[in-house]
Amino acid sequence: IAKQRTAMIRVHKEISAWYHQLLMKHPMADAARQYLKNRGITAEVAKSWQLGYAPPNTQPLREWAMKNKFGSGLLIEAGILATSEERGDAYPRFRHRLMFPIRNDNGEVIAFSGRVLEADAKAAKYLNSPETLLFNKSKVLFGFDKSKRAISKAGQAIVCEGQIDTLMVFEAGFQNVVAGQGTAFTEFHARALKRQADEVVLCYDSDNAGYKAAERAFQALAPFGLIVKVAMLPKGEDPDSYIRKQGVEAFGALIKEAKDFVDYQWISVGSRRDLTEMRERIKFAEEMAENVKLFDTPMAKETTIQRVARSLGISEEVMRKLVARAEKSTG
Ligand code: ATP
Ligand code: MN
Ligand code: MN
Ligand code: MN
Repeated sequence: IAKQRTAMIRVHKEISAWYHQLLMKHPMADAARQYLKNRGITAEVAKSWQLGYAPPNTQPLREWAMKNKFGSGLLIEAGILATSEERGDAYPRFRHRLMFPIRNDNGEVIAFSGRVLEADAKAAKYLNSPETLLFNKSKVLFGFDKSKRAISKAGQAIVCEGQIDTLMVFEAGFQNVVAGQGTAFTEFHARALKRQADEVVLCYDSDNAGYKAAERAFQALAPFGLIVKVAMLPKGEDPDSYIRKQGVEAFGALIKEAKDFVDYQWISVGSRRDLTEMRERIKFAEEMAENVKLFDTPMAKETTIQRVARSLGISEEVMRKLVARAEKSTG
């Protein structure tokens, strides 16, 4: 297994360098370079993140593999080649895509995420490497190898949804930024951040998927004693689009003014549901009780109970009872 791992690491390292060379220089990657330009990603940034380009057809990869003496078995194992019943032959998983290398804590490339270049309703916007010996997506934080030091120094991690958000936020000067892998934020992610920081600022897309993701992220982070705040982007924006439209300073203000999770929920839920209705208020109090029970310290619980009670205009006693009931219901 150790030998297999070494071989897999080497494949990822070599192919990432190759994808990158293609993106920077090859005529085949003209469209990809134009795409970067349109999105305001400079060559310097592309170099720093070793972005790449995966060719549209099989031949270049085949020649590259021959030259580097990588067998197709290893490439299949690494998820670079995919197999399918109907096609018979193994074929490149990533074709005509902008490639984002995903790295482990040591900075070794262990997987890729590839973005389509043209709006194409048929293809998934992002395609990721499958789970392999190296890659477990519930454990890897995108950008963490670059941002770990800054996270530790600031005592704070900015968490966003996507690769592009992460690199744009990082390049805007907020180097304490990471992303999950599009999927739910997990306890592994939370544990990794807890080792470096005591505060997390969620900076998810301001859309329904983003609101849901923020709540789930809170639920993963709170049990680790992390303070969870939420940066409130205007509806429809994500960190990348916001920085492009409003600039770095405005983004900095959003991070600085990030709301405590409870206050965020109050605003966010209040904009979707009518909290002047008694029924909705009861529902909100019960939902918040479910969240409060996740905090690992009595102090965090108590201050949150006070906040929710104050927002709702109910007594702390009632809120405390709801939390006790929530705690009992799941142990
Ligand atoms: P872009 O700005 O390039 O459109 P984004 O990061 O804003 O990208 P979102 O649609 O907001 O894209 O998705 C957030 C993240 O979720 C992506 O960066 C990616 O990691 C993941 N993701 C999105 N779509 C898919 C998909 N079809 N399959 C797997 N992961 C995806
Ligand atoms: Mn999104
Ligand atoms: Mn987005
Ligand atoms: Mn985006």
